[in-house]
Order: sequence, then structure tokens, then C-alpha cells
Amino acid sequence: MSMRSKLPDVGTTIFSVISRRAIEFDAMNVGQGFPDFPIDPLLAQCVTEAMAQGQNQYAQGDGVPELREAIAAKLADAHGIMVDPRASITVTCGATEALFSTIQAMVHPGDEVLVFDPAYDSYEPAVRLAGGRCIRIPLLPPSFAFDFDRVRAALTERTRLVIVNTPHNPACVAHDRSVLDTLAEVLRGRDIWILSDEVYEHTVFDGRAHTSVLAHPELRERTFAVFSFGKTLHVTGWRVGYCVATPPLMAEFRKVHQFNTFSIATPLQRGIARYLKQRPASWSELAGFFQRKRDLLTTLLEGSGFRPLPTQGTYFQLLDYSELTDQDDVGFSDRLIREAGVALIPLSPFYRERPDTRLLRICFAKRDETLEAAAQRLREFALRSAASALA
Ligand code: PMP
Ligand code: GLN
Repeated sequence: MSMRSKLPDVGTTIFSVISRRAIEFDAMNVGQGFPDFPIDPLLAQCVTEAMAQGQNQYAQGDGVPELREAIAAKLADAHGIMVDPRASITVTCGATEALFSTIQAMVHPGDEVLVFDPAYDSYEPAVRLAGGRCIRIPLLPPSFAFDFDRVRAALTERTRLVIVNTPHNPACVAHDRSVLDTLAEVLRGRDIWILSDEVYEHTVFDGRAHTSVLAHPELRERTFAVFSFGKTLHVTGWRVGYCVATPPLMAEFRKVHQFNTFSIATPLQRGIARYLKQRPASWSELAGFFQRKRDLLTTLLEGSGFRPLPTQGTYFQLLDYSELTDQDDVGFSDRLIREAGVALIPLSPFYRERPDTRLLRICFAKRDETLEAAAQRLREFALRSAASALA
């Protein structure tokens, strides 16, 4: 029998590859983005209670009503965005499903989707499975600024969707309002939708405010925005996220969602809803909490040869290692796993055309002890390699 792959050139995601190598070499995994600290005990209690009280059967496909109401309240409080929880919010299996279902709902065979590199790795396979094609526009370090001339030049009659992400993983920058104003001007009068990945909505630093595309009066009508409780509540493994869009767009989204995941784990949804009722503003502590960790990490790495680029948002930090070696980032990250016992994520795999940069991404959603130990290992590695270069 012969099998024809739909994604012949797609391998395993870089996050899983690096995590597997970390296990293989017993290295600290500060690459893949997940917290290593405990969750709020009240949250665990709320979910356990929901399960013990028999909330264990299929949930309503769009999401349990009290969770959608809590999400609507959070959108209003955090970003001043008002939406109808019945018609505009659907609970999904993490943000990943929200991204996938939006793309399947909106992209037709032959359509083009604009994606900005470095791009989160799930966008392109989802577009291809829908029969579409990604047009990838690079954003280059250190500023990762948009080149709107390139955006204008890339638009065609076939362009159906633009995927944006702020705060941006893995660039670690956050858009300001002017980016959205220019995007609105560029898209005006065209039937092009926006998929806005806002999973790091609450982790923006140094007094910045998150610029949700939903808060932009002109862009809102054409936008699907995607969020994740994995990031907001430190529970990446629970796989609970949500999508927000205007009622007509959400109706299309739900046609796909119902046959994709149908509905999301009931006790998790009920538990999160109960938790948010008791701690409605828990999200407001995230920016300060993670900013302190970012600052601790950059202090720990001062003078180490791993030079931090500015992080405006997310819980990641890019490190420029060009002082230490000219080795490419994929090769150097593997060397660090084997020789330093630290697993970091290379930046170049997030580009279609890999730039000649020397950047690795470290995750600072970790206990202080973990950050201290990882920084110590990186410093020792740098000293050892400097010593062997001199020898
Ligand atoms: N988008 C971005 C930019 C992410 O970093 C992630 C995961 N960390 C996701 C989407 C997927 O989120 P989830 O784990 O909720 O599926
Ligand atoms: N989003 C996470 C990160 O950027 C990884 C998610 C995954 O492994 N699929 O590290």
C-alpha cells in the first residue's frame, strides 16, 4: 500500500524535539514554555470539587455558560472589551485548537494566509491542511518591526487571513497601537480576516498595556482572537483556551469546533469558572510576577556571554550568544543540552528563510531556584568554552 502524506515535510515540533533531548541528556528544560511552580491550591480545589460533585459528562459544545460569562467579565475588566458570552465566545482545547478551528473555518483551498516570521509553529501546518498557502513575511531582530510595504506587496485577491501575535512568541516583543492602525488601513475594503494570537495577553511588561485586536474598533469586526488559560492560570497541560469573535464569525467557527473537539473537559471548565468567581482579578498579578522573573534572569546572566535582548512581553527571553561562538543556533542548542545540561529553543526554526542569527529562547516561567541553576550552568559552560578556546 502506498501512503501519501498530507504534510510530507513536517517533522516533530521543535518544542517536543528539545524536550525529548533534555530528557535524554538529563538537561534542565528551560526551553519549552511551561511553569515548574505549583498552581494556586484554590484552583486545584475548585476542579476537584467539580469532579467529585459529578460534573463529568459532556459539556455544552460552546463551553459551560458560567465559564463563558467569567471570560466575558475578564475581557471587560482586563482590556475594556465587551462581548456577548453566548454568541461570541467558544471554549476550546487550548489555544492550539482555537487556532486550528479558525483556520479550518475560514481558509479555502487555494487561499493565501499572511504569517509573520518568526511564527509559532502550529500556524503553517493548519493552513496547509485547509488547502491554503502561507506567505511568510520576516520580522528581523533586534526590533522585529513590521515592514508594511512588504505586507501591502504580499496582498493578493487570494489573501484570506492574516495571523498576528502579540505579545509575540518567540520574538518577545509587544505591538503598540500604531501597528494595528496601519493594519486596519492596509486591510480596509478587503475581505480578509485576522487571526490574533493573544495567549500572552497578561504578560506585558514595563507598564505597557496589551493591545488586543478586539479593542480596535475597525479591526474587531474581522477578528478571531485566541486566548489560553494554560498561560493565565499556569496550567498548560489542562488544554483549556477560548476563541472570541463577532457572532457571525463565531457561528462559522463553531461549525468546525463541534466536529473537531466537540466540547472541553467539563470539570476543568466548571472548576476554572468557580475559581474566577472567587479570584476574578488573579490575572492582574501576572505582569508583575513575570517581570520580576525576567529581571532576575537577566541579572543572573549579566556578563555571561549570553546577552539578553529586550523582552516586552511573554514569559520568554531571547539570548544572543554571538560573543561565545559562531555556531548556528540549532547546533549550539544541541551542544548546550549535551555539554551545559541546559535545554533552550533555537530561534531559526520559526522562520521559513532562516536568518543568520545567534539567538536562543529561554523560558523564565520557572521557580527562582530553577532560573539560578540554569544561569549557573550557562555561566560555567561559557567559562569552560572560553578556557578551552585559550588552551
Ligand atoms: N500561541 C502561542 C504564541 C503560544 O506560545 C502557544 C503555546 N505556548 C500557543 C499558541 C498554544 O497555546 P495552548 O497551549 O493553550 O494550546
Ligand atoms: N507554546 C509553548 C512554547 O512556546 C510550547 C507548546 C508546545 O510544546 N506545543 O514553548
